[in-house]
Amino acid sequence: MAPLNPLDDAAVRTALSRVQDPDLNKDLVSLGMIKSVAIEGGQVAITIELPSPARPMKDQISSNVEQALKAVADEQGANFERVTITFSEQSRSANDSVRNEPSVLPGVKHIIAVGAGKGGVGKSTIAVTLALGLAREGARVGLLDGDIYGPSIPTMLGLDDAMPAVRGSTLLPFETNGIKTISIGKLVDPDKPLIWRGPMAHGAFKQLALQTDWGQLDYLIVDLPPGTGDIPLTLAQLLPLTGAVIVCTPQRVAQEDARRAARMFQQLGVEILGVVENMSCFTGDDGTEYDIFGKGGAEVLAQTMGLPFLGSLPIHPSLRKHLDEGTPLACWEDRPEIARALEGLSKQLANRITIASMAAPTLEIR
Ligand code: ADP
Repeated sequence: MAPLNPLDDAAVRTALSRVQDPDLNKDLVSLGMIKSVAIEGGQVAITIELPSPARPMKDQISSNVEQALKAVADEQGANFERVTITFSEQSRSANDSVRNEPSVLPGVKHIIAVGAGKGGVGKSTIAVTLALGLAREGARVGLLDGDIYGPSIPTMLGLDDAMPAVRGSTLLPFETNGIKTISIGKLVDPDKPLIWRGPMAHGAFKQLALQTDWGQLDYLIVDLPPGTGDIPLTLAQLLPLTGAVIVCTPQRVAQEDARRAARMFQQLGVEILGVVENMSCFTGDDGTEYDIFGKGGAEVLAQTMGLPFLGSLPIHPSLRKHLDEGTPLACWEDRPEIARALEGLSKQLANRITIASMAAPTLEIR
């Protein structure tokens, strides 16, 4: 019997176009994830670029690629023995491609603002848990406490007693709970009220963002002050944002404020990556559900504005307790439904960031 021909390049591409990215529900070829293919006899070597550093489902992708190659080899009567897959990390950064100019934070791939229409809806809680959630999935994450009027992130991360460090004119971020973080709350006297005039607020925010030694980050999450004041404007002008997340509680009165915050980002040309519902329905230990602030209001807001909905976080005393005590990672340990909600939010955000950076215009060099 004549030896079988090896798979050719077109056959390998056909196989790869049948494999879907498990998170994005699109095939690897259309997503531009195939960086190289080499074929030698029955051996195939493929380099796949992962779009998102959080939750790369390498094992699942590898086994699906192998199965697809086997199937195509069977269909075509070709020789296929083995595939070696190398995963590389995404080198594209929305920050570089959004503006065709060097980024002011070149080591940072994606900058994401977390905003809310008003205070107390859990914006900082969501900023902290998104940052920690992405880091738990393996990404390098920074968290900038830009809520200069009420910085609560040092408390939530257990940094009340930590002292800031400076090298030359650079601030060194705190490294805690698997992320890097900096907060104005660590640079001013905690007993003095934080009263900032416009230019001072602008300057303080700029200094925090640009004079911190962030190093290499996949994601920099920025917790903004609530409302539609000066800081979001400064942020949008200063930093190339991949997009913004809007936090909203379920009740009707919260939706109007959140809508205004979303409109503000849209007017600034910042993409809304999604809406998060916080303080959604409380479930008691006996499983009974109590709609304290209602349920689903933020999803309705997202729908009516044509925005993605990232998911909801229930209201539960354990969240408040762990954040007050500065032990935020415990939020994933106590209750399975809360862990699931938190994991869902960071996964959805990572997906939306990937989609946003793929849609960003890229500079073609001929
Ligand atoms: P904001 O940044 O919008 O002002 P915070 O994140 O500081 O709001 O949250 C306000 C308070 O509500 C904090 O004490 C926080 O621990 C608590 N909190 C936020 N979200 C939840 C939740 N889902 N369940 C229980 N407590 C929450």
